[in-house]
Amino acid sequence: MSFQAPKGTFDWIPPRSERVLAIREALAAPARRAGYGYVETPVFEDTALFARGVGESTDIVSKEMYTFTDKGGRSITLRPEGTASVVRAVLQHGLHNGQLPVKLWYSGSQFRYERAQKGRYRHFWQVGAEALGAEDPALDAELILLAADGYAGLGLTGVRLLVNTLGCKECRPGYRAALQEFLRALDLDEATRARIEINPLRVLDDKRPEVQAQLAGAPMVVDHLCGACKAYHEEVRSLLTASGVAFTDDPRLVRGLDYYTRTTFEFVHDGLGSQSAVGGGGRYDGLSEMIGGPSLPSVGWALGVDRTLLAMEAEGLLADESAGERVQVYGVPLGEEARRRMFLLVTELRRAGLTADMSFGAKGLKGAMKGAGRSGARYALVLGERDLAAQAVQLKDLTTAEQTEVPLAEVADILKGKFS
Ligand code: AMP
Repeated sequence: MSFQAPKGTFDWIPPRSERVLAIREALAAPARRAGYGYVETPVFEDTALFARGVGESTDIVSKEMYTFTDKGGRSITLRPEGTASVVRAVLQHGLHNGQLPVKLWYSGSQFRYERAQKGRYRHFWQVGAEALGAEDPALDAELILLAADGYAGLGLTGVRLLVNTLGCKECRPGYRAALQEFLRALDLDEATRARIEINPLRVLDDKRPEVQAQLAGAPMVVDHLCGACKAYHEEVRSLLTASGVAFTDDPRLVRGLDYYTRTTFEFVHDGLGSQSAVGGGGRYDGLSEMIGGPSLPSVGWALGVDRTLLAMEAEGLLADESAGERVQVYGVPLGEEARRRMFLLVTELRRAGLTADMSFGAKGLKGAMKGAGRSGARYALVLGERDLAAQAVQLKDLTTAEQTEVPLAEVADILKGKFS
């Protein structure tokens, strides 16, 4: 019997796994430069945290959670997203009693029982950033910029930014009522009709063409904003424009989670087919209160690492998949005695800060040199019995095939010089 990774999951293996590490780092880099601190929360939490924080009416909570009872009889859920956990951690540790906003970033896997397809997995990775405890349009704009810079840092040029506002607790109820009135008059199936009563905004997000066709004249939240929300949104937009970030107003943009208020945004990439969202976020002023905390107006995003890699592939940014050096130096020992000496030499090189590997197993010169070539190393060190007797080693430049003999005692320094 042979095992496969569970449906909707996959393994990252070399050389692509190196890309994915680099993507996580690049997406987080702008936030780190802006003073966001690293937070790591458990992969599982109390089920109630997500039920309350993400919202009972969302697809995530109602259909997609990996929930189980642990041996202590607690209901536990593998995290489907990062924000609720970050807010929980901030409240638990009283971080909101210090300087505000609390700025945090995270990187981790998320779990959703979704219909698996390209770009939509049951186990996927997000890099996220959150700024908690401040209501300031500059903070919304900062986060949007940091995400845009993350994509740009990877060389992506096809990421589009969509921006909208969802209003606040003052103006949202009026809009909600107007939207419900409009939706109730449409020809919709039972499940969708039920959704109108629980979460009408979500109906706007329905991707089915027969639903979309009927939504053409739906009331827009922008026409129902209170003065404060209007001014807030204008300021966010104006800061984005002033910093040279291109965006499109998308009055239909609502997001799959219940906790969003005011600014919402999404980054999409047209090379990805139906799962085009590479990242998204927004303001969630009510979330802290929903999970029992004080008022803590906050804003944040989560960027999908897996889809970012697909987007890079679509733009041809990963073309030289085989290229890339695994190590700088590769040892080729010939004979038992040489193997022991090479083991020590490779250790010395690594301790000196170089990356190095050597041939393992009983391989002849030809097989070992093949390994050197595959390692992507710039230099091979060939050590035979005659070299050992002379306390020397053959240093071969694998790009020019030029070979020179160097004393064993000096090889580490010589190589360090070549790579400095
Ligand atoms: P969300 O937490 O739903 O706002 O998602 C934020 C980002 O995470 C999305 O824009 C996607 O890039 C990514 N994402 C969400 N769900 C999945 C999934 N099932 N598989 C892969 N990536 C996902």
